[in-house]
Amino acid sequence: MNSEIAQRRSRVAAGLPEHQLDALLVSSPANVRYVTGFTGSSGVALVLGDHAILFTDPRYTIQAAQEVSCRVAICKGPILPTVAAEVARLGIRRLGFERASISYDGYLTLREKLPGRTALEPVARWLEEQRMVKSPAEIELIRRSVATNSRAFEQAARHARAGMRERDLAAEIDHQMRRMGAEQPSFETIVAAGERSALPHAHPTGAVFRPREVVLVDMGTFQDGYASDMTRMLFLGTPDARLKRMYRAVLEAQLAAIDAVRPGVTTAHVDRRARMVLKGYGLDRAFVHSTGHGLGLEIHELPRIGKKDKTRLAAGMTITIEPGVYLEGTGGIRIEDTVAVTDRGCEVLTPTSKELRTV
Ligand code: ZN
Ligand code: ZN
Repeated sequence: MNSEIAQRRSRVAAGLPEHQLDALLVSSPANVRYVTGFTGSSGVALVLGDHAILFTDPRYTIQAAQEVSCRVAICKGPILPTVAAEVARLGIRRLGFERASISYDGYLTLREKLPGRTALEPVARWLEEQRMVKSPAEIELIRRSVATNSRAFEQAARHARAGMRERDLAAEIDHQMRRMGAEQPSFETIVAAGERSALPHAHPTGAVFRPREVVLVDMGTFQDGYASDMTRMLFLGTPDARLKRMYRAVLEAQLAAIDAVRPGVTTAHVDRRARMVLKGYGLDRAFVHSTGHGLGLEIHELPRIGKKDKTRLAAGMTITIEPGVYLEGTGGIRIEDTVAVTDRGCEVLTPTSKELRTV
């Protein structure tokens, strides 16, 4: 992985002239990890044309030495003033910074501590766009994260039955994923029963599963830093006809969208395929979010798979496909897989069955 990380830095370095910069200050934790390998929570990276420096604090001295292949600077005090001093020492005239991940305070500190002749230039989505296409090694890590997530789901789903509370199933899921090798959930596990499944991002509560209800489970793991994401539905006994029809519609929409995933197509096209199927069922207005998102070192990455997103898919991208419909008073259905774009089409990485599942 170390040579791969060095290559990523070289790509950033090679892009500096095009952005009219002498150096880029990388501050988003996922981007810092991407260009240095550092997994600590406090650190920024300075990428120059011919080298890079990770700045962190003394708590991470040992960890940084183990993880990072570029130069490491341990800052005794606040990090950004040390960065500014180094930028001044190196004579950097044009310094790019990540506008989405520097706080206003951080910006003011840089402005104040940098020499007047150093221009601070905001940069948007640079590394995020570079991160969209994953290397084979990254896809392998995502595949493992996805496999762990699916195994944790299988283990936890065995416990699901009428009378159980949402938060107990969520706790079981989190417990299983940790036991199976995940560092942590990649987002707060969603377990929503009955009418509450119509809330696309419900927090698990003490609500109890009742017979004939549907339970929505949306879960993901971080393993070796890489995210997975999956949504499945559990039916408690025979589902009511309306929910069954919704399930059929969403599954058809999900399969149609997956079928459209291949290099060269726009993400809007993939989104449209899901929406057209739901329109055929009169459910398109109940589909209130986008069809999916990229994932990797973060759970939500570029590209977005939405109505207005014009990114063209390319081999190596990893995305979710997750249409859903939500009816107030009835419930919601969502089905989500993690998918890798391949040279010819795509590979669904999620192994978990999408047959209507009753428990
Ligand atoms: Zn999800
Ligand atoms: Zn998702």
